[in-house]
Amino acid sequence: MTTVHNLGYPRIGPRRELKRALEAYWAGRIDREALLAEARAVRDARWRDQADAGLDLIPVGDFSLYDHVLDMSALLGCVPPRFGASDEPVDLDTYFRMARGRAPSGAPADACEMTKWFDTNYHYIVPEFAPDQAFRIASEGLFDEVVAAQAQGYRVKPVILGPISYLWLGKMKGGVDDRLALLDNLLPVYGQILYRLGALGVDWVQIDEPALALDLPPTWRTACEAAYNRLQGRGPKRLLATYFGPLAENLALACGLPVDGLHLDAVRADELALAADRLPGYKVLSAGVIDGRSPWRADLAVLCERLAPLAERLGADRLWLAPSCSLLHVPVDLSQESGLDPELRAWMAFARQKLDEVVALRQALAGEGGEALTAASAALAARRASARVHRADVAARLAALPPDAARRASLYEARAQVQHEKLHLPPLPTTTIGSFPQTDEIRTARRDWRAGRLDEAGYEAFLRTEIEHVIRAQEAYGLDVLVHGEPERTDMVEYFGERLDGFAATAHGWVQSYGSRCVKPPVIWGDVSRPRPMTVDWSVYAQSLTERPVKGMLTGPVTILQWSFVRDDIPRAEVCRQIALALRDEVGDLERAGIGVIQVDEPAFREGLPLRRADWPAYLDWAVQAFRLATSGVADETQIHTHMCYSEFNDIIEAIAALDADVITIETARSDMELLDAFADYAYPNEIGPGVYDIHSPNVPAAERMRALLYAAAERLGWSRLWVNPDCGLKTRGWPEVEASLREMVASARALRAEI
Ligand code: GLN
Ligand code: ZN
Repeated sequence: MTTVHNLGYPRIGPRRELKRALEAYWAGRIDREALLAEARAVRDARWRDQADAGLDLIPVGDFSLYDHVLDMSALLGCVPPRFGASDEPVDLDTYFRMARGRAPSGAPADACEMTKWFDTNYHYIVPEFAPDQAFRIASEGLFDEVVAAQAQGYRVKPVILGPISYLWLGKMKGGVDDRLALLDNLLPVYGQILYRLGALGVDWVQIDEPALALDLPPTWRTACEAAYNRLQGRGPKRLLATYFGPLAENLALACGLPVDGLHLDAVRADELALAADRLPGYKVLSAGVIDGRSPWRADLAVLCERLAPLAERLGADRLWLAPSCSLLHVPVDLSQESGLDPELRAWMAFARQKLDEVVALRQALAGEGGEALTAASAALAARRASARVHRADVAARLAALPPDAARRASLYEARAQVQHEKLHLPPLPTTTIGSFPQTDEIRTARRDWRAGRLDEAGYEAFLRTEIEHVIRAQEAYGLDVLVHGEPERTDMVEYFGERLDGFAATAHGWVQSYGSRCVKPPVIWGDVSRPRPMTVDWSVYAQSLTERPVKGMLTGPVTILQWSFVRDDIPRAEVCRQIALALRDEVGDLERAGIGVIQVDEPAFREGLPLRRADWPAYLDWAVQAFRLATSGVADETQIHTHMCYSEFNDIIEAIAALDADVITIETARSDMELLDAFADYAYPNEIGPGVYDIHSPNVPAAERMRALLYAAAERLGWSRLWVNPDCGLKTRGWPEVEASLREMVASARALRAEI
C-alpha cells in the first residue's frame, strides 16, 4: 500500500491553547510544570489527530514551544555567548531568552534576530554563528518526544532541519561570512543525532532542505553533495524533504544525494515525473500533492489522474503521498467554523481536513472509496460554477479602465509644486505612520461592541472621542501632517477584509506568525469589490477637528493580498488588481471628501517577492501596477504617501521608484540610515521620510540621535525632500512614551529647520 505521511502539523492547538499557556508562563501566572503539561496535551492531541486520520508515519519534532529553527539551534548547542555559556543542556528559559530577550529566569539579553521563513508569514529565529562555532547535542527534546510518541503507540518519523538549510538560514556574527566552513563542526553532530534516532528504533527520519528550492550559489550546491555523502551510513532511512517551489537546477542534485527518499512540492511545481526518471530504484518519491499553503479543498479526481501513471511506474511501495509542505501554514480544523457560510465552507480544507484528503487519495489510487472523490469533485464544480465567485461588474469595470489609469496626470516635479503650494508645509515636515496607542480602553470598547454590550452608536461615539484625543495630542506636540490614529482597526488587513466583498473571515482560522503570536488571515474567495466607503467617515471627522492636513490611511493592494489567504482559481496578479480597483474608489472618495494627503501602506511589498530571482520581474511589474492603479486616480494636488517597514531596498529600488508615491516613509532608525544608500545611488526623485526612531522600544529617543540620523539622511539625499517621522505605527506603545518621543522629534525637526 502507498505510504501516507505528513511533514508537520499546526502547533498552536485548535483554540490556541499553546499560545495562552506560553503567555501565562512568560507573565509568571503559571510555572514551568504547568506550561509543559499544557504543551504535552496539545502535542499529544496533534499526534492523535494525525493517527486518527490514518497516516502511516507521524511527524515528531515539528511541534515546538516557539520555533523549529530555534529548536534546531538548541539541539545543536548553537547558543550565542550573551545567553550564558554552559556545558549543560539548553534550558527552557535560555531557549525563551534567545527568542524574546527575556524569560522568567536568567538575565535579559538582546533576543536573536527573527525573520520570515521563506515566502510564508511564519517567522523563525535566525541561528547565530561565531567564526569557530562549535556544535554538540545540547537538548534531549527531540529524543524525548520520539520516546513519548512511541510509547503512545505511533510509528514516528522525526523531523529535523537539514544542515544546508540550517546554515543557509543562519547568520555569521563577526568574521567573514563563511558559514559553509562550519560544516566540518556541524556534520558530526548531525551524524550523532541520526545515530541516536536509529538507536531508538526509528526507521525513517525526515530531513528538511527547503533551501534546495532557492537559487543556491554553486559553492552551496557542491557543499550539499559533500555534506550528504558524509552523512551517509547506518541508522534510519532518510527522507529528504523539499518544499515551497520547484527544485529546477537543484533537482538532479537532490535526486542523486545518498538518501532513501525525496519529497517534492507538487503543488508549486510539476517535477514528479522528472524525479521519477532520475531516482534510483531503491528510493522513495514522496509526492506533496495537497496544498499546505492554502485553505482550499483539493481536486482529488484530478490528482488521482495525475498520480496514476506515477503509481504504475514506481509501484505502491515507492510512491508516498503527503501535503506539499508542513501544515503549519494553514488553520487547524475547519469543523470549528460553524459560523462560516456553508457554501464557502464546502470549498475549503484546513490542516485536519487535508490529512483526510491525503488518505482519500491513497484509497482512490488503489481503486477504492470513490465517495470522497465524488464529494470533492462536486464541491469544486459548485465552486467553479458559483455565480458569487465571478462578478461580471468587476470584470467590466477592470476592462473599461483607460490605458493610463495607472499613471498620475503629471510627473512628480509638477505635482510636488502644486502640493507644496496647497499644503504650505515647512521644510522637514513632521508626521507619524498612522496608528496611535491601542489602549486597554480601546480594546475593551471593541470587545463590548462585538459582544453586543455596547451598541453601534455607543461604539462610534467612543471612537470619535478617541480620534479627537489623538488630533488634539498631535496639535499639542506640533506635528505638521496629522493622522486619525486608527482606533477602529485591530489589524490593517482584517479591517479592509471585513468591508470588501469577496472576502470571508473565519472564527478560529489562526496560523502561527511567530512564537505565541498568531494571525487570522481573511479568505479571498471571490471577485473583490467595495460595496461602500470604508474609511471616509473617520478621516472626514478627523479633518473636521483641525486646520492642519489629516492623512487618509489605507492598506495597499499588495499587502492586503499578501496577508490574506488567496483564491487559487485565478492568478494572484488578477486578485491584486481587483483589490487595487476597490482601493482606487476609496482613494477617490477620500479626495472628494476633502482629504488632501492619502497614505497607502505597503509593508508587505517586499515580502511578496518570489523565492527565485527569475520570477521577480513579473511580480514587481504587477505589484507596482496594482499600487499605481489604486493611487493614480487623483489630482496632482493630492499627495500620495506610502509606508514600508523592515525593508531592504537595494535590489528593488527601481520598483519602489516606479510606485511614484509622492512621499515614502520607511523604517531606517536602526540601520543608521544605511538603507538610504539605495535611494541615494538610484537618485530616487520623490520625497522620503526615513524613520528617525525605533518604535519597537519603549525608550524615548534622544534629540541628539535623531539629529545625527537626519544629518546622515541629508548627506545622502539633501535636505529638501526629507520628512521627519518615526519608523512605523505607534499602536503597540503607551501614551507617555509616545508623547515624550514625538515632542522630542518635533523639537529636533524645528531646531534643524533653523540650521539648514
Ligand atoms: N499605518 C499602519 C500603522 O501605523 C502601518 C503599519 C505597518 O506598517 N505595518 O500601524
Ligand atoms: Zn511599518
